[in-house]
Amino acid sequence: MIDFELPAEIADVQKKVAAFVRDAAIPAELELGADVEVEGERFNEVIERLRAEAKQRNLFNPHLPPEWGGVGLGPLGMAIVSQECGASSLASLGLNAMAPDEGNMHLLLHAGAPEQLERYLRPLSEGRVRSCFAMTERAAGSDPLGLATTAEPDDDGWVINGDKWFISGAARAAFAIVVARTGEAGDRDAFSLFLVDADNPGWSVVREIPVMGTASPGGHCEVVLKDCRVGADALLGQLGSGYALAQVRLGPARLAHCMRWIGVAQRALDLAAERALTRETFGEPLAGRQTVQNWLADSAIELYASRLMVLHAAYLIERGDEYRQEVSMAKVYVSEILNKIVDRALQLHGSLGYSGDLPLERFYRDARAARIYDGPSEVHRMVIARNVLKAATSGDSTKSATGGLA
Ligand SMILES: Cc1cc2nc3c(=O)[nH]c(=O)nc-3n(C[C@H](O)[C@H](O)[C@H](O)COP(=O)(O)OP(=O)(O)OC[C@H]3O[C@@H](n4cnc5c(N)ncnc54)[C@H](O)[C@@H]3O)c2cc1C
Repeated sequence: MIDFELPAEIADVQKKVAAFVRDAAIPAELELGADVEVEGERFNEVIERLRAEAKQRNLFNPHLPPEWGGVGLGPLGMAIVSQECGASSLASLGLNAMAPDEGNMHLLLHAGAPEQLERYLRPLSEGRVRSCFAMTERAAGSDPLGLATTAEPDDDGWVINGDKWFISGAARAAFAIVVARTGEAGDRDAFSLFLVDADNPGWSVVREIPVMGTASPGGHCEVVLKDCRVGADALLGQLGSGYALAQVRLGPARLAHCMRWIGVAQRALDLAAERALTRETFGEPLAGRQTVQNWLADSAIELYASRLMVLHAAYLIERGDEYRQEVSMAKVYVSEILNKIVDRALQLHGSLGYSGDLPLERFYRDARAARIYDGPSEVHRMVIARNVLKAATSGDSTKSATGGLA
């Protein structure tokens, strides 16, 4: 029999995180008001307070093993936690499980040498520093094989040169994981990962790029690496393993985004349902109108499908099964329904939805980027279709490319 019951320990953490979000993160968000998008003194004070609260509730670092001061949840447990966290933009920060640090911590644990773990993972896990992941360049985003940043061997290390673009959190990061070319163009084994300290004279953050949605903390930055010298010990993982390691990082990181988006969409639907019940026009509550009922029903259907997709993909990752097709499908679907659900909720609220008095206009601005980062929808569709065609070419049903369920 298929069992949709959560294991008791995950159900317990879910309750605790839901309470943390309801009693600490959402009130902190309301307290900050418009400052929730401004990384200033007030913002930092609130995050520190939330972190102290998370530690007291034994929820800090839910994604890390206990020996790194964490709760020790796997992908399935994190799916549940991240869905709860999505309801408030401050919740993941409070738990020290926010992008891009969460993905970087996983990657360090996966590929880091013991000295690298002490030097980089230790302060990240203690919430003392932030980090960033520097892959994209102006001339190469969707297609990473076009990356032009190079790392050339030097006497006792490497010299990195190149420009990076849209690096989230770079203005506040203590270090970056940089993707650089160490081999021939067009070859997947041509890339390696390097740990670069932000105080390296060869690393400079040129500017925080102005964007449509929330950019804090640390902005989305343009970065230049100019004759950036690093030691041999800066190489993360094997030489030439950068592309493969980036995929190791991106699979679960994409899913973590999906989970948070489900939390955002759920909060938007909660607000929409509440408004539909209380707002009257032409002598009738909005909830009585068929159009509004369709909006609520479609949002509920899409959220249900999203949860099932995300939980199934998390289950595959947890079991060590192949998961890329399922994660790509979830990434496309959840990022697109997020935009739809938030848009409907905003429309249902009319002028109030468009105002800064509710979080919906911020959700709307932030949601737009979800269809671009961690692979645009069109690129994931290209990969998904390739797997459908591969299954068909091999003479089998295409069912194996549709989630592989019974
Ligand atoms: C908010 C945000 C945060 C980000 N944070 C980071 C970060 O921390 N680190 C990092 O390294 N990068 C980051 N990025 C960059 C992100 O990974 C890239 O934006 C993404 O990979 C797409 O690359 P691009 O923007 O260069 O678009 P392009 O590659 O120029 O693509 C533009 C558009 O072309 C279309 N397209 C491209 N290829 C195909 C295809 N094969 N078939 C059909 N259509 C296609 C798609 O519609 C796509 O949106 C971030 C981006 C955003 C928006």
